[in-house]
Amino acid sequence: DEVCHGAGDRSEEESADEMTIFKKIIDKEIPADIVYEDDQCLAFRDVNPQAPVHVLVIPKREIRSLADVVETDRELLGHLLVVASRIAAKLHLHDGYRTVINCGAHGGQTVHHLHIHLLGGRNLDWPPG
Ligand code: IMP
Repeated sequence: DEVCHGAGDRSEEESADEMTIFKKIIDKEIPADIVYEDDQCLAFRDVNPQAPVHVLVIPKREIRSLADVVETDRELLGHLLVVASRIAAKLHLHDGYRTVINCGAHGGQTVHHLHIHLLGGRNLDWPPG
């Protein structure tokens, strides 16, 4: 039914067409604790950290999720991982760390702008919940 399509069913999650909170961070419209930035990506502390170190590495270009990447994103995706590795070293995560990409509803993705979680500073459990 057309009438009901897209009607205001507000939830914690962002709706499809909304500007994401991460886009606002990229545009410096809202503040973030930035740990690294270059022309392609931005890394900042997660506002709700799940470990002593919890950084999010995001592309500046808007990609909704890992499910949306295409072959031409190869270099950018590789760059994000290289940056995550450099940040882990810079933040002294010598005992190891974890990188996570949540994708879609079952993956627990809540912000629809691709991001790599970098978690460290404690012993992390496996498997995840
Ligand atoms: P997801 O569940 O994989 O989509 O991860 C989204 C992450 O973004 C969560 O860990 C949130 O705590 C984090 N987050 C949401 N809003 C902000 C913000 O404004 N600044 C920093 N981190 C945020």
